[in-house]
Amino acid sequence: MSQVQRMSRLMAKTLRDNPADAETLSHQLLVRAGYVRRTSAGIWSWLPLGKKVLDNISRVVREEMDAIGAQEVLLPALLPREPYDASGRWDEYGDLLFRLKDRKGADYLLGPTHEEIFTQVVKDQCTSYKDLPVMLYQIQTKYRDEARPRSGVLRGREFQMKDSYSFDTTDEGLAESYALHREAYRKIFARLGLDYRIVSAVSGAMGGSASEEFLAPAAAGEDTFADCPNCDYAANTEAVTFAAPAPGTTGHGPVEELDTPDTPTIETLAEHLGVPASATLKNLLVKVDGEIVAVGVPGDREVDLGKLGEHLAPAVVELVSAEDFEDRPDLVRGYVGPQGLKIRYIADPRVAPGTAWITGANKPDTHARNVVCGRDFEVDDYLDVVVVEEGDPCPVCGTGLKLDRAIEIGHIFQLGRKYADTFQLDVLGQQGKPVRVTMGSYGIGVSRAVAALAEQTADEQGLCWPQEIAPADVHVVAAGKALQTELALEISDQLAAAGLRVLVDERQGVSPGVKFTDAELIGVPHIVVAGRRAGEGVVELKDRRTGEREELPVAEAVSRLT
Ligand code: ATP
Ligand code: MG
Ligand code: MG
Ligand code: MG
Repeated sequence: MSQVQRMSRLMAKTLRDNPADAETLSHQLLVRAGYVRRTSAGIWSWLPLGKKVLDNISRVVREEMDAIGAQEVLLPALLPREPYDASGRWDEYGDLLFRLKDRKGADYLLGPTHEEIFTQVVKDQCTSYKDLPVMLYQIQTKYRDEARPRSGVLRGREFQMKDSYSFDTTDEGLAESYALHREAYRKIFARLGLDYRIVSAVSGAMGGSASEEFLAPAAAGEDTFADCPNCDYAANTEAVTFAAPAPGTTGHGPVEELDTPDTPTIETLAEHLGVPASATLKNLLVKVDGEIVAVGVPGDREVDLGKLGEHLAPAVVELVSAEDFEDRPDLVRGYVGPQGLKIRYIADPRVAPGTAWITGANKPDTHARNVVCGRDFEVDDYLDVVVVEEGDPCPVCGTGLKLDRAIEIGHIFQLGRKYADTFQLDVLGQQGKPVRVTMGSYGIGVSRAVAALAEQTADEQGLCWPQEIAPADVHVVAAGKALQTELALEISDQLAAAGLRVLVDERQGVSPGVKFTDAELIGVPHIVVAGRRAGEGVVELKDRRTGEREELPVAEAVSRLT
């Protein structure tokens, strides 16, 4: 028999008003309905109702991962620096990484993702081809010091991720492990009741080749994807590639190369950009020897050109600047070589005011519109300019593309041998020779999925969960005095005895109106009201989603629900 949760004892203080800083629907509702509370920027506490939803999502994820033969493990979140030095990510992650020291002064980090550690675990555990393939996963707390932890649990600095890793001896094996994950993800998101698309993605900071994202269309999403109405083509706009450019052009317009004779100063650089040396640039990203020395994010951060001076030694400087998209739509790419500053002007007819897309601005996979450069700090060697607009031709069939906003809820990668090379992960092959292992990595934003689901399913009244994910199956409301309370408790016991998870609002001194409002806000799929006709043993059954109501004798209501 399931438990009956009494509202009088439940720690879930509902709020009438939206929190002042909450811009997205899921953020507003999850706080108002008492699911989560903010502890610090991007750091959230999960209260009883929220924890139940989080656990339900984890359970679905766990069941489907187990079903493809992945084994659950739990690795630490507090990690030593050395493996991340070996892979280069201690530095590559830049500001995104939470770094800390122990009492002896040794460096540690809080894991943003775990490729390095899983590789080491498998190196320790698997020595022969007979030990592979193996797929491992964990549901664990991740840490990323996101520049803009907004939108509640959609983008946390501490968040729950299911991450898994596959280890194979052959490319075909990797393709199989990848396909298994892709299928498991389809099942997971279908069971969660999420509307989602699978789109091509750029392989990103993980390195590697094949990569796809699972995107949940929602206005609150921070990704944009292009969808072809005519064929199967769908891609994150970061990953949309057009036909190869003719020599001397980019894919998007003519290239003009300008050389300056001398090692540039801040003045020559500014001159080439067509801005005063004292200018404050927006949408600027500069790398020196592969290291980012300056980033400009519109409205968020600004970079003072004058401060770049010291970095402009003869070294590679890559520059993407729209200066100001409003009145300078052309973008600039340049580098400082031994001969001086070389800048390529890319006049792109498709860069409309305020809408520029820059690939490479944020790790090799990237964020584009309104360039959020500072977010991940992973930058490709090559900064390209890609503009994708609604109606652009589909690269496969030429039909006009449609663009939509979406939340990235999952991401799958074929990593290849990048990490195996770093850690020399070999197993003894069939022929008795060592074979280098090939890997995949696969993530689901478990805590983000709570918000994504809230975004897609909520209505004006509040949250509205699919049954499998809801914190309870039935929300029973005692709308009246002792008689109603007694009936509400009785029907709750019957429902629980039949195995349903029941929330009963038997609070004294709370008006029926407040109870109804709370029930709508909390979003359990079925609402049972013991009210006006309680004396006759008749209750009202309400479907939270459709709003349909029906009056039924208790026994019938119970059998309807069970
Ligand atoms: P984003 O583009 O939103 O920053 P990401 O591409 O950096 O995400 P991955 O490294 O692919 O994220 O991580 C796997 C999954 O973890 C993502 O698909 C997403 O669902 C989730 N995730 C990533 N960052 C966060 C975050 N800050 N808060 C909550 N979930 C996150
Ligand atoms: Mg990110
Ligand atoms: Mg992403
Ligand atoms: Mg991703």
